[in-house]
Amino acid sequence: METVKYTLTEQQMPTAWYNIQADLPAPAPPVLHPGTGQPITPDDLAPLFPMALIMQEVSQERTIEIPEEVQSIYRQWRPSPLYRARRLEQALDTPAKIYYKYEGVSPAGSHKPNTAVPQAYYNKQEGVKRLTTETGAGQWGSALAFAGALLGLEVLVFMVKISYQQKPYRHALMNAYGARVIPSPSTETQAGRAILAEHPDSTGSLGIAISEAVELAAQSDDTKYALGSVLNHVLLHQTVVGLEAQAQLEMAGDYPDIIIGCTGGGSNFAGISFPFIGAKLRGERDVQVIAVEPAACPSLTRGIYAYDFGDTAHLTPLVKMHTLGSTFVPEGIHAGGLRYHGMAPLVSHVVQLGLVEPRAEPQLGCFAAGLTFARSEGILPAPEANHAVKTVIDEALRCKEEGTSKVILFNLCGHGHFDMQAYMDYEAGKLRDHEYSQEEVAMALAGLPVVG
Ligand SMILES: *Cc1c(COP(=O)(O)O)cnc(C)c1O
Repeated sequence: METVKYTLTEQQMPTAWYNIQADLPAPAPPVLHPGTGQPITPDDLAPLFPMALIMQEVSQERTIEIPEEVQSIYRQWRPSPLYRARRLEQALDTPAKIYYKYEGVSPAGSHKPNTAVPQAYYNKQEGVKRLTTETGAGQWGSALAFAGALLGLEVLVFMVKISYQQKPYRHALMNAYGARVIPSPSTETQAGRAILAEHPDSTGSLGIAISEAVELAAQSDDTKYALGSVLNHVLLHQTVVGLEAQAQLEMAGDYPDIIIGCTGGGSNFAGISFPFIGAKLRGERDVQVIAVEPAACPSLTRGIYAYDFGDTAHLTPLVKMHTLGSTFVPEGIHAGGLRYHGMAPLVSHVVQLGLVEPRAEPQLGCFAAGLTFARSEGILPAPEANHAVKTVIDEALRCKEEGTSKVILFNLCGHGHFDMQAYMDYEAGKLRDHEYSQEEVAMALAGLPVVG
């Protein structure tokens, strides 16, 4: 069978990102200062982020130019390929057409360098010497370590302890790029020491690691903080994925009926879907969009839409999002990149507007789907991406049942080469489907901040 692949030339690569804020029927609720309860100002964020990124965070412009130096680094792996999954379609015997955008071609193996590179670039422009960050599965840490190496910034990564133990090759990769990696919770910060005093065996969480990274960044002038998901500017940078996919599908002569992405903090999902949701909002073309999260950390499907902190120690501003509570520590499932208590405010907002349908999937079915994909398409997806793959297969089988031929597009946001332990554990029957504990979450939600 012919491989069907759509590639753009470097000249066809997008030269601007797409900002969905310009097309929203109602603006997303403002970010609030935790002390005053008032909307935060750019100055409030200045200790943590460079001004260029803060301005992108609040921008209402539809397009924001990609700096030439960022484009030149993007060109190392962009435009990324769009494949038609003909062999998977055949294996499923479905009349659906399945397309996937493959972001595993980046040096770090996922979509994360799409934002790591511009973030490092703008920090460098403003004279920053060192970036601190957190990482769950290690994908974001590797991406920022890569970007820091290319742009000449020091990178310090707090890695969720359970992932540090499960994924030694991930921190080895960050070290190879010259970054320093510290398992979190650590004794290097007040936030980490406080957690360890209460829970000496804590396996960590993204919320805790964020607290540690933010604390260090806030303490020194030449150090800033970088976040790999959730924030508006991160989602903005990821739209390069969907913009390329739009051009590639035009080459294919198709338009998606359904777009599917997995959601941790929401960035790869927003990256592939926001340009298409924008077209829908402008009345150009309708599309069904599905966001898939793990059943063990179901912020969109079972959390509540409320103002909450982005971290456990409550150092971040308050954002309105679907949340399980900032002290919620999800089960140590293998899709580490999806273990975040909250969701990007812009993704929460489009879910509230009814533009996106959220779903939750337990991990065992996702691993099975990932292996089906690998055995037909030859690419082993990251465990996070398997949540999208599972839903794609479900939708393709529904097409078969109903005798309809829909066009399905999904983001294959990373490969699973650093996640082989997860696949080995799956094959050995060691993985479980964790039931999300209603009691534990009720406790975490009881701690939600009161906002006037
Ligand atoms: C980080 C990561 C995710 C989750 O983050 P999002 O911001 O929701 O995209 C999903 N998949 C992969 C491969 C990742 O590296």
